[in-house]
Amino acid sequence: MTSNYNKTVIITGIGGMDGFYLSKLLLDKGYKVIGILRRSANQNGQRLRSLRGSPNFHIVYGDVTDSASITTIVKQFQPDEFYHLAANSFVGCSWQSPSHVIETNSIGTINCLDALRQHKKDCRFYFAGSSEMYGDYVKRHGGHVILNEDSPMIAASPYGVSKVTGYQMTRVYRESYDMFAACGILFNHSAPLRGEEFFTRKVTSNLARIHWGLQETFTLGNLDAKRDEGYSGDYVIAMHAMLQHDKPEDFVIATGKTHSCREWLYFCQQKFQLDDRCITVDDSLKRPNEINVLIGDASKAKELLGWVPSCSFDQLVDKMCQYDYHLQSPDPTFVRRADEFLF
Ligand code: NDP
Repeated sequence: MTSNYNKTVIITGIGGMDGFYLSKLLLDKGYKVIGILRRSANQNGQRLRSLRGSPNFHIVYGDVTDSASITTIVKQFQPDEFYHLAANSFVGCSWQSPSHVIETNSIGTINCLDALRQHKKDCRFYFAGSSEMYGDYVKRHGGHVILNEDSPMIAASPYGVSKVTGYQMTRVYRESYDMFAACGILFNHSAPLRGEEFFTRKVTSNLARIHWGLQETFTLGNLDAKRDEGYSGDYVIAMHAMLQHDKPEDFVIATGKTHSCREWLYFCQQKFQLDDRCITVDDSLKRPNEINVLIGDASKAKELLGWVPSCSFDQLVDKMCQYDYHLQSPDPTFVRRADEFLF
């Protein structure tokens, strides 16, 4: 068995949800983790506080839209594996700033691939693709198609287009330069550290604040959209497995089950013993082009990587409600316990 003790990994987007769970996984496996964080006045690396004490964990400042910064970091650290997670990842917002989304998600990906091509060509590269890449293909088939690696990618949002471009460039670098460049086509996934603007976490954090009497209501958009929602802790295991595979390939990572936003809301309301009086629905929050149903087929990942999701929908609801129940409490004793529910 190969040891990871001398292996160095670079992660872009380390300050995000997957960045945290992937860092934890790789540190536990003995990797030296170099995380690229873009500087912000708002302390964007807060999620990483529990990892900062590890001697194998290092943060460097860089921005994927600045090729010079990525090139310098690659040259300096000579990574064995490179996980490119950085993105402007909020689909709903991508209609407001389409050029910025393309700059970050598409050009940013080219900057990472090219830095490796020039300075560490044998490094294994992971690109964070998305089920949003299929978008309009699903709509054209009335919603009910189960998506796999061969399904056509016809994006329905600026975010989807930016990810299709990143996916295509990953494939082009793989085939043109013989690089080990793989793409995970990940369906929705959440965890207690999901950003609060995303539906699943928006629901758990707001319901928890209502439970504690800190607010009375909150506003949601489309409750009919159905998503294949898994747990980030499971999905980062798949990312790692893709880079240990004997050849670079693309893999769908999904649970194979789909649930509506309304179902997520209902199950969370049950946990907090709240009903619909705590929500208002605002049509202006609906997306200009909504994909109604997403459901993925991860058979290839099961067969070639031995990957299957371990966390059920109910367990994910429970984990996230427990975390926010503690974190949003006005009582510091509860807040201090929140991290017990991160995994
Ligand atoms: P997050 O939004 O939580 O994290 C994205 C991270 O990227 C943030 O830390 C952000 O930094 C960073 N980032 C954004 N722009 C730049 C930049 N220009 N330079 C450097 N860093 C930058 O996303 P997730 O962790 O949920 O997702 C990880 C990846 O997986 C993303 O690429 C996402 O698009 C993709 N994905 C996610 C899915 C999901 O359901 N979670 C599904 C499919 C794909 P900052 O904190 O400063 O904003």
